[in-house]
Amino acid sequence: MHLEIKVYPDTMLRKKAGSVKKIGKEERRLACDMIEIMRSANGLGLAAPQVGISKRIIIAGDTENKSSAIALINPVVVKKRGVSHFCEGCLSLPGLTSDVVRPDWVIVEGFNLDGEKLKIETAGLLARVLQHEIDHLNGVLFIDRIGLLRRKRLIRQFSSKL
Ligand code: ZN
Repeated sequence: MHLEIKVYPDTMLRKKAGSVKKIGKEERRLACDMIEIMRSANGLGLAAPQVGISKRIIIAGDTENKSSAIALINPVVVKKRGVSHFCEGCLSLPGLTSDVVRPDWVIVEGFNLDGEKLKIETAGLLARVLQHEIDHLNGVLFIDRIGLLRRKRLIRQFSSKL
């Protein structure tokens, strides 16, 4: 399967991804491919819709150990707390960054590639990456989480480069 990163304003980025009913070979293969794509693009995370697959699968690079990454199936933020600012970017909006306010601490639940239930309690960068990627599963981009004027300016800046 040849996958490539979908770039804004690709309509796939606005679609709500479907739940994964069964975790099999196809899903494991997809997660591996996504990890490879994320690494070669120097990203911190990636969601399946970003490579044109409408499934609730995300991956996140391990922020402490660069050689490992986690894959999460049907991830959900079940608890969140605090406020943090961070300058976010996105592989689907190359060249754009903006300060985005998000909760600093989250509990995310989902399944790993073996179908086992996972519960991740985390703060800081990983918490941010997980929230950003889960947003992608709902068709939400980081530019939706900033002020209207700044969003318009960023989209103009981006479109002028297309
Ligand atoms: Zn993104």
